[in-house]
Order: sequence, then C-alpha cells, then structure tokens
Amino acid sequence: MTDILPSYVEDAWWTPADPHHAATVLDAATGEDVARVSAAGLELGRVLEHARTVGQASLGTLSFHQRAVLLKQFAQALTERKQELYDLSKHAGSTERDSLNDVDGGIGVLFTFSSKGRRELPSGQVYLDGPVETLSKDGSFLGRHVYTRLPGVALQINAFNFPMWGALEKFAPAFLAGVPTVVKPATPTAYVAEAWVRILVETGLLPAGSLQLISGSVPKIFEHLRLGDIVGFTGSASTAERLRSHESVQTGGVRFTSETDSINASVLGPDAVAGTPEFDAYVKQLLSELTTKAGQKCTAIRRAIVPEGSVDDVVAAVRAKIAERVVLGDPHAPGVTMGPLVSLEQRDEVLRSVAELEAEGGRLLLGSVQPPRVVRADGSVGVAEDGAFLEPLLIGFADASTPAAHQVEAFGPVASVLGYRTVEEAADLVSLGGGSLVTSVATNDPGVAATLLSRIAAYNGRLLFLDRDDAKTSTGHGAPVPHLVHGGPGRAGGGEELGGIRAVLHHMQRTAVQGSPEMLTALTGVWHQGAASRNDRHPFRKSLAELAVGDQIVSASRVVTLDDIETFAHFTGDLFYAHMDEASAAANPFFPGRVAHGYLLVSWAAGLFVDPEPGPVLANSGLENLRFVTPVSPGDEIRVVLTAKQITPRETDEYGEVRWDAVIRNQNDELVAAYDVLTLVAKELETAA
Ligand code: NAP
Repeated sequence: MTDILPSYVEDAWWTPADPHHAATVLDAATGEDVARVSAAGLELGRVLEHARTVGQASLGTLSFHQRAVLLKQFAQALTERKQELYDLSKHAGSTERDSLNDVDGGIGVLFTFSSKGRRELPSGQVYLDGPVETLSKDGSFLGRHVYTRLPGVALQINAFNFPMWGALEKFAPAFLAGVPTVVKPATPTAYVAEAWVRILVETGLLPAGSLQLISGSVPKIFEHLRLGDIVGFTGSASTAERLRSHESVQTGGVRFTSETDSINASVLGPDAVAGTPEFDAYVKQLLSELTTKAGQKCTAIRRAIVPEGSVDDVVAAVRAKIAERVVLGDPHAPGVTMGPLVSLEQRDEVLRSVAELEAEGGRLLLGSVQPPRVVRADGSVGVAEDGAFLEPLLIGFADASTPAAHQVEAFGPVASVLGYRTVEEAADLVSLGGGSLVTSVATNDPGVAATLLSRIAAYNGRLLFLDRDDAKTSTGHGAPVPHLVHGGPGRAGGGEELGGIRAVLHHMQRTAVQGSPEMLTALTGVWHQGAASRNDRHPFRKSLAELAVGDQIVSASRVVTLDDIETFAHFTGDLFYAHMDEASAAANPFFPGRVAHGYLLVSWAAGLFVDPEPGPVLANSGLENLRFVTPVSPGDEIRVVLTAKQITPRETDEYGEVRWDAVIRNQNDELVAAYDVLTLVAKELETAA
C-alpha cells in the first residue's frame, strides 16, 4: 500500500491522521497503485486564514519586481528537476511529448510572467490604470484608477489533465499580484502537483504562506470563503455550475471564474483542398490534438469542420498519419507517442460519450472502441486489460448541425468530422458549440478568414489562423500561451482572465481614486502635474539613490528662426511642404504658414534640458506618448520643463528606468508638445563612473 500524499499547509507538510478514507490512484497504463489521496480532517478554515494573514503579510513586503524575480528562480528550480516531473507524469499516461505541454509549459508560464512582471509592471505595489482625469479647471483635483491586490486568498481548483501547467498559469499571476495561493489539484494527478510544490518548497524561497497545497477532495471548502477571496476553477462545466451557485459566490462576494469544458472547432477553409500546405497543416494539427494527452485537453479539437467534398480526404489523411506516426502504449516504453487516458473511469466516461454521439446519428469513420493492442512497458505488444487505452476516433454525422456533435464532450482522443457547404454555414456550426476556448482556421484566403473572424470571434476566447507562412512556427491549436487570453465565453466558462498582465490584474481590485496632485503623487509614487517640484541640482547629476519624483529642470528659452527650419529640413531631408512652402502651408487648416518640424522641437528640447557631462544618466531609451499641440512659427520661442515622473530601479541590474515628464511651451505659455522621456540611470554614482 502506498503512503498518503501529503498536503502542504501552514508552511508544513501534513497527512491525515485517519488513512481509511483515502482515494487510491492507479497507474494509467498498468493499473498499479501510485498514490493514496485524502484531505480528511484538514482544517480548511485555518488553511485559508493562514493565507489571508501570514501569506498576505509576507507577499506584502515585496514589490511586483521582487515577486517577479522569485518566479524566475522557481522556474529555474523546476527546470533543474524536470526529469523527476516527467517520470512521475508517465504514471498518469503522459508521454515525453505530453510533458512538454504540462511540465515545460508550466515552467514557461513562470518565466513569461517573471519577465512580463519586470517589464510591464511598476516597481512598487500599486498599478495605475489609464490616464489622469483632470476634474477641476485649475488642475488641483484629479482622478485616477489604481489596482491594489485583493486582501484574501486565491483558491485555485484544477482539472486532472494539466497538474502542473494548469496550476502554474494561475499561481504565477496570483503571486505577482501579491495574493497567496491555495492549490487544489484534481485527485487523479494530485501526485504530480505535490511534486512541483515540493520542489518550490525545497528552494527555501517561498514567502511564508504564499503557497499551500491541498491533496485530496474538499467538498466543503466554499463554506470558508469570504469577500476578498478569489476562486479560479478549471474542470467540467457541471462542477463549475455547482460551485458557482454556492452562496459564498452568489451573495458572499467571493470572485469566481471558471475555465470549463469546451467543444472547440477547427475549420478547414474551402481553398485548403488536399495537396495545399494548409490542408497538410490542418491534418497534422488534427492528429496532434487527438493524440497529445490522449485528447484530454480542454483546448483539443472536438469538431473538425471541413468542406463537404473534403471529408473523405481529411479522414484518409489522418488515417495515413496515424499509421505512420502513432505508437500507442505505456509511456515508460521507448518510442511510444500516445499514452492511455488518465484512468479506467475516464476511459469509460469517454466511451459513454462516444456511445451517446453514435446514438444521435454519429458513425465511426476512424478507429475502434475495442481495447487496442498497445506497447507495454517491457516492449511487448498486446491488449493491456488494466490500462486506460483508447484509439484515436473520428465520428461522422450526416447532419452537421446534430446538437450532440456540438454539445457532448468526449474528453479523450475523439473528434467529430462535420461537412459544410458555405463559409457562412461553417461559421454557424462553430457557434453551435455555445462558446469555446479556441477555434482554428486553416486557410490561405484572407477573405475567408475575415468572414469567419467577424462571425465566430464572439464565440471564442482565441482564434488561430493557420496558413503556409505560420504552419511551422505556430504554437498550435491546443496550446494556450501565457501572453494571450486563455478562457472563453459561454460554455467555456465565461472566463478570459488568464494570460498576460490582465491575469495579474484579475487578482487585484480596480478603484477610482480622487485627490490633489500632491496626494496622488504620494499615493502612487508617480509625479502628477501640479504636485510639488524640486529644482535644486540638475536632476541628470543625481543617481537613482538621490533622485526623487518631482526633481525638475526648467530650461532657458530658444527662438526659432526660418533659417533653423530650413537647415533642419535640408540636414534631415524632411522637406515636407508645411516647413518649406509658405503658400501651401497656409492653405493647410492646421498651420498659420510655415512651421517648425516637431522633431526639431523635440531635439532642441533635449539640447535645452540635458546636462552634457558624463554622469549617472546612462542612456535615453525612448519617448512615449508624444503629442504636438500648438504649431511653432518662425520667431516663436520655446522652453521645456522636465520633471522626474516615475523611478523604476531594476532588481537585477545596477541601474533603473526614469520616466520624465517633458512639456514644451511657447512664449505665450501655450502647450507646444508633451511627452515622456525614458532614460536609464545608474543606481549609484560609482556605477556610472
Ligand atoms: P472536475 O471533475 O469538474 O473536477 C475539477 C476540480 O474540481 C477537481 O480538482 C475536483 O477535485 C474539484 N472539485 C469537485 N467538486 C468540488 C467541490 N465541491 N469543492 C472544491 N473542489 C471541487 O473536472 P476533471 O475531471 O478534473 O477535469 C476534466 C474537465 O476539465 C474536462 O471537462 C475539461 O474540458 C475541463 N478542463 C478545462 C480546462 C480549461 O482551461 N477550460 C482545462 C483543463 C480541463 P476532486 O478531484 O478532488 O474531486
């Protein structure tokens, strides 16, 4: 008998005192015991409270960037011990290629969020959303939207099929946001989740209470949730529905989002007939979606929507590819490319769904529901009675709009092949899925793609357009990427919160904040027009250690002459008529006559504000939000005010970024141009020397 899988709660490993109620998890290929799982007796209220108190406190001492650096260290630790995770995943039926999705995919999520966090989030703990709104004529009353972290715990309930990637795509953004996580993996693969959590614990880098793991079922956990907590659920639509209707969500203010099952589609364009690169890419992708994780992917293709005349070609091509490439068997055996489903229960569940599809008019075009011959761990070939094996199955329907084909999820290596006559009909078929995570389209015809985009985008969280140019580089139909939305409308759960910085913000509360420029500067760490400024030493002489937001330089004035404009025009080659031809310029509705180039003004502004000697300012890394407002005519004067707006030290470098507020005005104090100047500045003066 195997040991009971521990949970990691309150910063310690825990196993139930009473082992009698533990669920036994079996090897997917052999039926041998792998783990016993139970959370019986765990005090769930205490676990959640530990996150809300200890976890919130420890994460609260870290900035976004410090948390991002930790994510990278977690990713490195997991990378070093990847093989352990691969080996363990084989018990769940995962081949090496499957683990590329789950293990490497999960590690990739951590790396991506780490780098996004350092590039796209500020260095502090408050995230500013959108521009400043000026709410009084004199600028003394402003409004802004800010995001601050939720005060509770992120309960992440996961499905069995991706015990690592599925969990880490939620943990990473919650951690970055500063919200402690409680991971609840699905029982059939809880041992893989336990392994990656153990690796993170063993780094010694996890802030106290920031990550807890519950191994085992916890049907009553929602009773302990409250306002400020957030649930990220992944699993079946029926479980999601049940959990969503819990009163803690309905009336208790607990945030709940779900990524659920989804009858995803893949459309073969009418132009993509056999022999085209798009047809080949389509078939390759369909095969990959049928066989990777034995089709147990929320994003897998469940409906192949193809021109009526191409149905036979597609089925024949998939059959040929299976013969050529698919080796079904125990992932422990070398050469196996497709493993079993996670359990016999799951296989039987899939067979029930297939029977339901057949009862509704579906007929098997490819594959058999009989136990297949497979490669066993020792290399022998035969039927593995205790293994959850199933061949890839394609099911055809005479009537492509048969409701079951669009509603029944056979969560295994199963797809329906549905013929269409027009692109519009193909779009209608896609929408019958009731909302999906992803639809892919193989076409080299932008017209077909545009028609489909306008008709099916609203039914999907993600669309992949596959053509000869991206067929090789595409990450594929079934692979959500951490940069982009993962989730989908309707049946897919209604979520779109995973992927990118929006996933971090999902764990935070957006609040409108009103106040004076001085107050908003103090609250956000970002200088606002109208707040106090300091004009002592030239700010370019100050290292990050000395520089403060509000440090400012007010330049002298400079007169613009016609000669200057012509010199600049000939020097740069920018002879645009507004600078060179008085009559044409005057005829233009925006100019009084010939005017100075905007780029001349910006260049001069730099000349007016820089301090030229070597010092802590290392480089100009760009301009943002540049707007030219009032044209400048020969004889006008300009001057610039440059104010340190935001200071972002880099965690792992000896320098940081300073964003400067730059405002150019003319002799009448009218706004000529406004923009942000971005510079890299040394943390200490010695670094710059
Ligand atoms: P499931 O049976 O719905 O279970 C999902 C999770 O919910 C498991 O961790 C389960 O824990 C937990 N759970 C069940 N009742 C609970 C309760 N009362 N309180 C707290 N947690 C509870 O789904 P599954 O069989 O693991 O996964 C397969 C399904 O997931 C498929 O339908 C697939 O399409 C979907 N899926 C969707 C996505 C996506 O991103 N959209 C990704 C992967 C999978 P126990 O195991 O302990 O019961």
